[in-house]
Amino acid sequence: MKKIILIKYGELTTKKGNRNFFVNTLYNNIKNKLKEYDVKISKDRARMYIEFNDRELESIKNVIDHIFGIHMYHIANIVDTNIDSIKDELLNIMKMERFSTFKIEVKRSDKSFPYRTMELNPMLGTHLLKNINNIKVDVHNPDVLVKVEIREGHSYIYTNGYKGCGGYPAGVQNKAMLMLSGGIDSPVAGYLAMKRGIKLDAVYFEAIPHTSIDARNKVIELTKKLSMYTDHINLHIVNFTPIQEEIYKTANPNYCITIMRRMMYRIMEKLAKKNNALAIINGESVGQVASQTLTSMNVINSVTNIPVIRPVACLDKLEIIDIARKIDTYEISILPYEDCCTVFVPKHPIINPKIEDSVKMEEKIDYEKMIDEAVESVYTIKVDDSLNKFKNLL
Ligand code: ATP
Ligand code: MG
Repeated sequence: MKKIILIKYGELTTKKGNRNFFVNTLYNNIKNKLKEYDVKISKDRARMYIEFNDRELESIKNVIDHIFGIHMYHIANIVDTNIDSIKDELLNIMKMERFSTFKIEVKRSDKSFPYRTMELNPMLGTHLLKNINNIKVDVHNPDVLVKVEIREGHSYIYTNGYKGCGGYPAGVQNKAMLMLSGGIDSPVAGYLAMKRGIKLDAVYFEAIPHTSIDARNKVIELTKKLSMYTDHINLHIVNFTPIQEEIYKTANPNYCITIMRRMMYRIMEKLAKKNNALAIINGESVGQVASQTLTSMNVINSVTNIPVIRPVACLDKLEIIDIARKIDTYEISILPYEDCCTVFVPKHPIINPKIEDSVKMEEKIDYEKMIDEAVESVYTIKVDDSLNKFKNLL
């Protein structure tokens, strides 16, 4: 039997003014993500339709499961619009389902169809009750809800669908720069930001030789996972070694993390401007470590004026881990490679730093010049999920 994927938008529908823009962006994203598949995609005001090749269904579902802006999707069976075909196919479909209660909902867009909705619901329901044993109608909480859409030429019949990943289509917002370390929190922060439609560039601070190439590769792997939700992500790698070494030579050890993070924010702001990004995203979570107390956040945040968005700020670690598992970054994040924040961790990082003290310590460093050099020497990699796609085929 011929089938089609029916895509429902969900949250977009509440955004009246932006609707066309949202729908067109989603349409282009789906087209782009499925460009290597044998598909035909069309859309109307309420939905999108994907004609597909049966052999590719599982792989296509995996792609769709990573496209933001999709609320629900169904694999609908296509039948000729005549009452006998509809009855036959409905019965075939329901014979394959395991259920004891059902409900039928008929929608009749083809106004020339000889039966009205009011007649069709009981007619089709009775047909099932007669031909399948031990089933009942339950209009409130059915095991299976069957939708029958009567359209001109061809009609659709489908049952329970699949939940899409929700959110807004990638790219309906401007770009932001994600501070991506190898940890658990920042990939989750990036995922949540993308879910709001934000386009991401990622920035990784490395301190070779204190950090290894393995640590860098881990961040590349994480970026690949995130890029499954968009077309590609530019990963900017910052050589942080000179600044970091200078900080550790000059600052009070308890302030090293605070000052290091102020330097990171300064670099982030410059990189944001250079790459036309409007915000910084990171994985800070209130109270998780010394640099994430509200006092620390104030002192660190005070070096920049551009918005810093912290999607996991108020989540528990366990809630963050749940998302990390769902987006398949957790196993990569827990690989034990050192990060530039962890190699130099002081014994007692300050939890109540003062801006004046930070400024005083920073005066000993010619940091403006070092920051400019770090920004100038950034190394950028365009990361996409082609490797993941390949893995899925194996
Ligand atoms: P994560 O699990 O994401 O590493 P964390 O709890 O270990 O977070 P910190 O190391 O204090 O927290 O870092 C807080 C945030 O700062 C990170 O979530 C990340 O956004 C950013 N960050 C830290 N180190 C780096 C780095 N080397 N490169 C880029 N961003 C970083
Ligand atoms: Mg970290």
